[in-house]
Amino acid sequence: MQYVKGVGPARAAQLKRLGLETVEDVLWAAPRRYEDRSRLRRITDLTPGTAATVRARVVRVALRRTQRGRSLVEAVMGDETGTISCLWFHQPYLIQQVKPDAEFIVYGRLEPGPPARRARAGRRLQFIHPELERVGGGEHDAQEAALHTGRIVPIYPLTEGVGQRWYRRVVHTVVSRYASTVAEALPADLRDRLALKPVAWALQQMHFPESWEALDAARRRLVFDELFLIQIRLALRRSRLTARRKPQRYQASGPLTEALFRRLPFALTASQRRVFEELCRDLCETRPMLRLLQGDVGSGKTVVAAALMAVAVQSGYQVALMAPTELLAEQHARVLRGYFEPLGVRVGLLAQGVAPADRKRLIRGAADGTVQMLVGTHALIESAVTFKQLALVVIDEQHKFGVAQRSRLVRKAGTPDVLVMTATPIPRTLALSLYGDLACSTLTELPPGRVPIRTLWYPESSRPEVYRQIREELAAGRQGYVVYPLVDVSDRQALRAATQMAATLKTQVFPEFRVELLHGQMRPRAKESIMGAFVEGRVQLLVSTVIVEVGLDVPNAAVMLIEHPERFGLAQLHQLRGRIGRGTHPATCFALSDTTDETAQKRLAAFAETADGFQLAEQDLELRGPGELLGRRQSGFLRFRMADLTRDQALLDLARQEAFDLVEREPQLGRPDLAPLRERLKRAGLSS
Ligand code: ADP
Ligand code: MG
Repeated sequence: MQYVKGVGPARAAQLKRLGLETVEDVLWAAPRRYEDRSRLRRITDLTPGTAATVRARVVRVALRRTQRGRSLVEAVMGDETGTISCLWFHQPYLIQQVKPDAEFIVYGRLEPGPPARRARAGRRLQFIHPELERVGGGEHDAQEAALHTGRIVPIYPLTEGVGQRWYRRVVHTVVSRYASTVAEALPADLRDRLALKPVAWALQQMHFPESWEALDAARRRLVFDELFLIQIRLALRRSRLTARRKPQRYQASGPLTEALFRRLPFALTASQRRVFEELCRDLCETRPMLRLLQGDVGSGKTVVAAALMAVAVQSGYQVALMAPTELLAEQHARVLRGYFEPLGVRVGLLAQGVAPADRKRLIRGAADGTVQMLVGTHALIESAVTFKQLALVVIDEQHKFGVAQRSRLVRKAGTPDVLVMTATPIPRTLALSLYGDLACSTLTELPPGRVPIRTLWYPESSRPEVYRQIREELAAGRQGYVVYPLVDVSDRQALRAATQMAATLKTQVFPEFRVELLHGQMRPRAKESIMGAFVEGRVQLLVSTVIVEVGLDVPNAAVMLIEHPERFGLAQLHQLRGRIGRGTHPATCFALSDTTDETAQKRLAAFAETADGFQLAEQDLELRGPGELLGRRQSGFLRFRMADLTRDQALLDLARQEAFDLVEREPQLGRPDLAPLRERLKRAGLSS
């Protein structure tokens, strides 16, 4: 940036810290908001509480000190209709510019002034820290003035040290020089059909709009641009992964699925049946399946996946199921063994705690095809693990994995069918941007008999009462969780807190029950035995770090206390809460927090009020934005510069439709007029 007029090395460094390194960064960095300074007002017409622009002359001006020692420049400025006072604190140098009789464009917010000394003087108004533009200087000044006032003026998201006016001038230089050199990435026929403006015009208007209508048109074009590029990338990925025909052929119904459905202690919900059929249809296609199964926590995704796995096995193939934590992998192995071992299917578990000899046997079994279902953590993607006939890959809680891990497992088969599952409901718009390469099935109902979880956000002072209610539940034969936030596994202090808490609960608060601690740093064997005891009901209260977050399924657990809930995001809170209320007993979730942080308060209020995961996710998106909502791992490439997913849904749908149509027709984007688009994808690193 330091080659742009007006930007020296020091300024360039400041801009770099704001993420503005290149001319391109500046061009594409949208203003945070705009101020309408286009209409000049008469001083007599001004009203308090509004923002206004006036053209006025300095009547008198003085520099003084307030009682607290702050410097204060006070000017009285007037036009032909009246006068108004303007105040600036801490800017004594202004006295050099604000000279009597000089004329300015003044922009600011009108505040009611101090009460008038004499009643008939009426109300007084003042500007505090208004922006000033000198009028009537040389040509340069007039140009300057035209940039900052007398128009719709952009206000940028800047930090201290980088002033709006200075930066605005830089942007103006950059826009006038470079906007016209930006290559048009959208093909002409597309732009014509959708009435999208040229990119150069849109960039120019986004920074210095000539009207609100022009700004809308510019934004529409640029938001479309951004969303379209993301969707093109997803469409290309999907087309690459599903382009090849697969050799595997399935029998959707057969002895294994039939036996499974007979053995299940419950009937599938209508939603589960519909999704299962959807998945089977996908399996029977000639192209590989690439599908996301969404469903709120507890909606019963596992059994649907299990049924699909049965389809693969009865068709003579192997299946791999990957889960993000040891606990979850163990649970899945336990459940699948329960379903399938009596039916003669070998289910293997590849996790940390597995003894080397067993591990070897398992790896051999996977390689020679005698282990039909292999469950594990990311241990599955190690290179030692190979399969004879891997046809179906299932990834649970896939948001915990990166795209890279997913594709490494997928590469262990030729053209496998892939099912990924997630119980972190995310807003549809975000799902489309993040998982848009996947087809999507959604479980829309919970199994029958579930009672909605009651969620209570209480202050710390209610702790004894909360303990009393937990005791009641435990005494009635239910089980419970106390969850401690351990944001990352190396957080020793939090671990100590959790350990201490467990000891206190064990010996002092609930001595009559069996209380155990479970955390991520315990040895696998110890974890397994505690988890086993909890699943079997021998442990009543599990004090745990967030490793219980995903997937765990103990239907008898009916009460949960979340400590320091203010440290969790909404999605995570909802996941945690999803550990209870999985049976038919009414369940209660307590969140104890005295937080004074306003967003945290909003979050907790929403958490207590809303039981629906998808609804919560929408609120989370609004409260935190996509980056925070997803965490860095997944949102890596999802840095929206223009789009606002809560506002731009319609444009997203349009961009998606167009992108997928285009890739369908031109899988290589080979048409000559698509060269600029290919170029843009390559430069944005979006082509992979
Ligand atoms: P999630 O979708 O969160 O992964 P699970 O698959 O763990 O949920 O299922 C939650 C609980 O609901 C499990 O105990 C499971 O056995 C039970 N379940 C699943 N489907 C049904 C059903 N149709 N009727 C009754 N219970 C069911
Ligand atoms: Mg699950």
